[in-house]
Amino acid sequence: VRDARTAPFFDAAAAGRLAVRSCTACGRLLPPAAMACSACRSPALSWAEVSGDGSVVSWIVMHGRVPTGSPEGTAAPTAVIVTVELAEGPWINGRLIDATADDLELGSRVRVDFHRPAEGAGEPIPVFRLMR
Ligand SMILES: [Zn+2]
Repeated sequence: VRDARTAPFFDAAAAGRLAVRSCTACGRLLPPAAMACSACRSPALSWAEVSGDGSVVSWIVMHGRVPTGSPEGTAAPTAVIVTVELAEGPWINGRLIDATADDLELGSRVRVDFHRPAEGAGEPIPVFRLMR
């Protein structure tokens, strides 16, 4: 959700760049949702842009419900949520696109991309694409 704290994240996402938190006290890079530094506990965080490259450390498959009124035999929707260790260090979660859980291995290389909702339907959100 966009607010004064998250606006820089969404502004970067709109420009196709991934932003993470950066501790102004010790320089450690932290996940976008971090509220304080995990190393030195400082709450003074700024934003830093990262490459968006990383490797998969874990994933979960979320199973949806078949929409009411779907034709017989419609498969339930699934989404794969990957936890990615960015090349710069922080971990971030995002949906895996253009691949399934069968394509994943621990350490699979991924790169961030941005899912852009229709105009007025929300902010761009980071997703991940396998690098093959
Ligand atoms: Zn720190």
